[in-house]
Amino acid sequence: MSAATENREIVIIGGGIIGCCSAYYLTRHPSYDTSRHKVTLLEATEIAGGASGKAGGLLAQWAYPSSIVPLSYKLHADLAKEHGGKDRWGYREVSCGQLIGTGRPLSDKKGASGAESGSSVSLQKRSAAAMAKLKAAGIPSDLDWFAPELLKGYDSMSDPGETAQVHPYLFTTSMAKLAEEKGAKIVLGSVTKIDQPDNTVKSVTYTEKESGEQRTIPATDVIVAAGPWTPSVLPEAPISNTRAHSVVIRPTRPVSAYTLFTNIAIPGNFDPSKPSRPTVVAPEIYARPDETVYCCGEGDHSVRLPNTTAEVEVNQESCQDIINQVGSVSDELRDGQVCARQACYLPTVSTARGGPLVGHSGTKGLYVAAGHTCWGIQNAPGTGKLMSEFVFDGNAKSAKIGSLDPRNYM
Ligand SMILES: Cc1cc2nc3c(=O)[nH]c(=O)nc-3n(C[C@H](O)[C@H](O)[C@H](O)COP(=O)(O)OP(=O)(O)OC[C@H]3O[C@@H](n4cnc5c(N)ncnc54)[C@H](O)[C@@H]3O)c2cc1C
Repeated sequence: MSAATENREIVIIGGGIIGCCSAYYLTRHPSYDTSRHKVTLLEATEIAGGASGKAGGLLAQWAYPSSIVPLSYKLHADLAKEHGGKDRWGYREVSCGQLIGTGRPLSDKKGASGAESGSSVSLQKRSAAAMAKLKAAGIPSDLDWFAPELLKGYDSMSDPGETAQVHPYLFTTSMAKLAEEKGAKIVLGSVTKIDQPDNTVKSVTYTEKESGEQRTIPATDVIVAAGPWTPSVLPEAPISNTRAHSVVIRPTRPVSAYTLFTNIAIPGNFDPSKPSRPTVVAPEIYARPDETVYCCGEGDHSVRLPNTTAEVEVNQESCQDIINQVGSVSDELRDGQVCARQACYLPTVSTARGGPLVGHSGTKGLYVAAGHTCWGIQNAPGTGKLMSEFVFDGNAKSAKIGSLDPRNYM
């Protein structure tokens, strides 16, 4: 009997984007048969409660690792086409570039036209002199939601076709729902043990979220996709973590479709309550089709990874720093409405090659799909498809990913 024709009890640990995409592609694999194959996804707290629901959502042909990016970028486009991703999870092609500017002090409440804040300024209202300045600095004319006198330059990193975006929370929860529609079962419970006698997986034990009761289910195949928590179920996995804060702002008016890396010089007199030396900050700013703008700041290691996504500590000051930084170059963002202040943990891989780890673990029936660093949204569909191939075909078919083999590291 081939692996695909046997009865299989497939358990996925983790309901982030990687676990949900794995569930989706397992239920779409040509060998998947609901009469013989059971797919159970165990999520400790909430689907997309971690980084997968709080990330930016940029997809790029130039992301890394190159072994998985082209496959995954294409699968994102295919998924959006098949399931109406444009409306369902905000999939769209988008421009991407680096914006260089100088922030104005917080006390400066003047708008780009010189008017007091509150009167939002659109490109049409700008003076000929401001327009000429933007053109000279190479700033696209539709990037009109930044104060022209504060901008120094714009370097295009890619045009639509090479970069796209999704709303990560909507994408991840949609993948979970689509997997459920084809028979996958989603259970809220925290895995405490993978039983693997004789180097073969046998069962998974978890604490059910609602009842707090301990349960054990049989398993022939276990995919560990617990992001930064992966070492809690697989201690030998070389995965660590970094916390990152982000905010979502509804700007004073709809803004053009750009994903921006920034380089903003912050003057010494930026915040009189916090006198400091001039510095440079680099928040990422992503306009979204739902007329919000996502902005994230730099990572920190000041608070250890908590036990669950629900216990992630949000430092309000870190969120306010991001709001102040992006507002220092844009009236539309400064005077907009802040809809979310949040934090999450990015999974990082503590090896020279950088990860992610995707494939067999070395124990029969145990696979790893974790450590996706800052490109987990981009690389999730590719990872999910490859995991379905590992489980049903025994090896990866859609991409050559030997360099990501977890056995190289564990
Ligand atoms: C600020 C920020 C911005 C980002 N922007 C982008 C971007 O623009 N583009 C991009 O491609 N990537 C981006 N990323 C990276 C991306 O968010 C991550 O790589 C990706 O979300 C990781 O997904 P995951 O499923 O591996 O982990 P997670 O999303 O952390 O999911 C892991 C899940 O496992 C569950 N879990 C943990 N332990 C257990 C257990 N014992 N039992 C059961 N369940 C368990 C957790 O509750 C959690 O839901 C960004 C990340 C950050 C932090």
